[in-house]
Amino acid sequence: MPQGGGLSTRGPRNLLRQIREAMAGGGPAQGRLNQVVRIIALSMVAEVCSLYLRRASGELELFATEGLNPEAVHNTRLRPGEGLVGEVARIAEPISLIDAPSHPSFSYRPETGEDPYHAFLGAPLLRGGRAVGVLVVQNRAARHYDADEIEDIQTIAMVLAETVASGELVGLEELSEVELAPHRAERLKGQKFADGLAVGHVVLHEAPIAPEQLLALDPVAEEIRLHASLDALKSGIDHMLDGGQGKLGGASYEVLETYRMFADDRGWNRSLEEAVRSGLTAEAAVDRVRNEHRARFAKARDPYIKERLHDFEDLANRLLRILAGDKPGDRALPDDAILVAKNLGPADLLEYPRTKLKGLLIEEGSAASHAAIVARALQIPCVGRLMGLRDRLSENDLVIVDGEGGEAFLRPRPDMVEAVTQRMAMRQSRQAEFDKIRDLPAVTQDGTRVTLLTNAGLAVDLELLDKSGAEGIGLFRTEFQFMVSDELPKLNAQTALYRLVLDAADERPVTFRTLDIGGDKVLPYLEAEREENPALGRRAIRLGLDRPALLRMQLRALLTAAGGRELRVMFPMIATVDEFRAARELVDYEVAWARRRGRPLPELLRVGAMIECPSLLWHLDALLPLTDFVSVGSNDLFQYMFAADRTNPLVAERYDPLSPPALRALQYIQKKCADTGTPVSVCGEIAGKPLEAFALVTLGFTRLSAPAAGVGAVKRMVLSTDLVAARRGMANLLGSSAASIRGELESLARKLNVAL
Ligand code: PEP
Ligand code: MG
Repeated sequence: MPQGGGLSTRGPRNLLRQIREAMAGGGPAQGRLNQVVRIIALSMVAEVCSLYLRRASGELELFATEGLNPEAVHNTRLRPGEGLVGEVARIAEPISLIDAPSHPSFSYRPETGEDPYHAFLGAPLLRGGRAVGVLVVQNRAARHYDADEIEDIQTIAMVLAETVASGELVGLEELSEVELAPHRAERLKGQKFADGLAVGHVVLHEAPIAPEQLLALDPVAEEIRLHASLDALKSGIDHMLDGGQGKLGGASYEVLETYRMFADDRGWNRSLEEAVRSGLTAEAAVDRVRNEHRARFAKARDPYIKERLHDFEDLANRLLRILAGDKPGDRALPDDAILVAKNLGPADLLEYPRTKLKGLLIEEGSAASHAAIVARALQIPCVGRLMGLRDRLSENDLVIVDGEGGEAFLRPRPDMVEAVTQRMAMRQSRQAEFDKIRDLPAVTQDGTRVTLLTNAGLAVDLELLDKSGAEGIGLFRTEFQFMVSDELPKLNAQTALYRLVLDAADERPVTFRTLDIGGDKVLPYLEAEREENPALGRRAIRLGLDRPALLRMQLRALLTAAGGRELRVMFPMIATVDEFRAARELVDYEVAWARRRGRPLPELLRVGAMIECPSLLWHLDALLPLTDFVSVGSNDLFQYMFAADRTNPLVAERYDPLSPPALRALQYIQKKCADTGTPVSVCGEIAGKPLEAFALVTLGFTRLSAPAAGVGAVKRMVLSTDLVAARRGMANLLGSSAASIRGELESLARKLNVAL
């Protein structure tokens, strides 16, 4: 009776070579699969070797076997979790048993004739962290498979997963029903982050580089390579932590610290070493260990643990880059790049060349996150919250980004591409319609003039100012310049940008918002304390007041750039009247400084506050007299009102701005401003959406600042609105006890023939 002995006698490399040769052998696919399982059984000294692959239905079908009844092939099917094979797939980890029939998960299938076999060793075929099949060896005798054998079968399973998915083993057309993704067309429902449509090819953000060579020619040399790359990884992180933060791009200090911890993780290092010792190249070892992590973490429900997976993923990607000798930023992008990311920061997005970036798909994120805002500012169609996205796509796959419907189509069929191309043409003609009303003033049916402005933050936005027909810039996010820079922008650079903006705006008003960093906007070169709750932390004006030199430099740049013209400047995240006073004092200080030196000063200076913290609502009577204007930052105001982090996908969309409490708060602000004669605008994202903007004008707001892409549609809405009738309808709705009055508001707008 054979007693196993695993691969130790012949070595996994030898076996893997034989598998490759069998695959290359030609002949019908089934014949080659049969040969592969025979070779594995022989090598592992097992009486049985079976390969199960997952069908699209989720069932695991026996595709080939050595030792079991051949009649069972393509007949035996197991549901995920059913039997030991189903259990291996479910937990996505190997199972080794001395006596399988006595295990509670054992499911006896008479057609297979497996009753005489006791010892069982099964390993999942992992693709993108999911089990797409299971490889099993069985022995008649109740024997124990040792750690080396378990390691070996995992290596073989990995090679099989790769080769089956690549179509080398069996033609993919023969496996069209097998869920070996990614090759089938799929439709994923997500959420709209930025309007628009795009068709293009996938570029994976921080793309994992697929190992080209799986088997090492010289395992000893490979281990040395692995250690050298691990050392380089660790010293690179140490270097960044020790002060070279400028090189880091968008990654935060916290992430780095976690990296360092994980890079030293003994379990991770040991798994990599073991994988290399089993005959894999260092790259393939990283890939395999990553797959195991994905599978393990994918089952975790705890969001903290899931985040750790992200860290391991990043670490693996960095390691793969080091092994490939790549430098970040060297990547060549296709001209129709669709960036695909699990999550990304605004700075990460800005690192990609705008001209090639046609669309963006994000697995997590939220519509109010800054990456989504940047996407809208750049008019890059973006869909987010696409569960399982990264696992379903490969680099260079064709995809459709449907930012209108909040969907992504992966590997679409030609008819779908055609349909979307037609919709893109329709959008263009709708744009032509907006172009026709572009130079008309936005006046409601009953004669109320509404001023439509745009939100901007980058030099590219300035082109859109003319194209959108906006009457000025209602919010210029000055931090974007800081975010795209590797170091603190110098006074001259800041002055130059502000001058460029004022020149481009010509006579149109521009409202500059002073630096709003912190929260999800992290500047790698500005040392920031680690905070538990960054959104409630030292962000925006809080940082400005704590580091007045930074704010003063910016104010100096603004005053210089606006010499001889009007300067409008406002402060973000004001929570107390004192904060506004202190900020305004810094402006006065800088004005006095410039005056003493005889520097040119703005002809007119207006200083405002953003209303983003609910505390201000109860102190408007004290605040408004001190301001020249205010602007409601509804993104933040609602985040704080509903206590829901705008960047956290689990809570960001839980509350609807079109709800009685949110709208009543806005109504209250509008009324207080009207009573005191304080000019007020709304500059959150809601100002750029026709239905939300309909609510705003109905509440009495006549200054809206929206992303350039929303201006046309909002103007069309304004031109078609009869405010008197709308106000009557709105008054009833505000009394509702519902959590959202979106549906009712939409019906009202439709009844009044408002163009949405
Ligand atoms: C807001 O909070 O609504 C706002 C306009 O500012 P930001 O989105 O940049 O935080
Ligand atoms: Mg804000």
